[in-house]
Amino acid sequence: MPQPQEKPELDPAAAYKRVMLKISGEALMGDQGFGLHPPTVQRIAREVKTVHEMGVEICMVIGGGNIFRGLSGSAQGMERTTADYMGMLATVMNALAMQSALEGLGVFTRVISAIRMDEVAEPYIRRRAVRHLEKKRVCIFAAGTGNPYFTTDTAATLRANEMACEAIFMGKNGVDGIYDKDPKEHADAVRYDEISYDDVFAKRLKVMDASAIALARDNNLPLIVFPLDEPGGFRGILSGEGTYTKVQG
Ligand code: UDP
Repeated sequence: MPQPQEKPELDPAAAYKRVMLKISGEALMGDQGFGLHPPTVQRIAREVKTVHEMGVEICMVIGGGNIFRGLSGSAQGMERTTADYMGMLATVMNALAMQSALEGLGVFTRVISAIRMDEVAEPYIRRRAVRHLEKKRVCIFAAGTGNPYFTTDTAATLRANEMACEAIFMGKNGVDGIYDKDPKEHADAVRYDEISYDDVFAKRLKVMDASAIALARDNNLPLIVFPLDEPGGFRGILSGEGTYTKVQG
């Protein structure tokens, strides 16, 4: 069992001191097409650990789309609000799976839920969460914003603002940034190195949902879209290497 490293010093090479990592629930399902694939969760946890070792303070939000999405439930006749609460509960399962994987690697974590469930996770108390970050605990924010009709993209942007993160890192599988069209369908698709939030809106690029983009843009919070499936990719970007797209105001 590796010894936990509670308070690593900030690596001078790190471009950011405190970041938000947003990953979709689907990133955790591996090739299964549904649910959780523990080896995939462990692989992502190893990537997070390499950044934690740089002394970077890490917030995480994980979606729930590998288990349940409110919109699909309501499309099949469920009442939308109930379906959204189910989606939020799905994110708690994913957060617990990530917590287990990170702690297995000796990284201290807290799961912090927007919906109270004290036996399972801490309630969200902003100042307490900031203190965890200062103590270099990875804070995994679960249950989205706690409100139906939102997504975990908005939750990630909201918590990133509240926690004074310097950027949101959006880890994607099989794509190394934002393209002008779908690179899986168009061989001539061009990746943007940088793009403004206004252009993301104007060109209708599918990066985050509109409320998340507005919240990031209006608070000058940069978004970095990078490949999550490239080993060392997350750490590389923190040290100024690798391919990614940066979205800013
Ligand atoms: N959700 C919600 N409020 C929030 C965040 C999430 O109601 O603040 C629900 C919503 O039903 C959503 C589901 O939780 O479909 C899972 O989140 P999301 O779709 O963002 O997951 P991802 O696509 O990132 O896996």
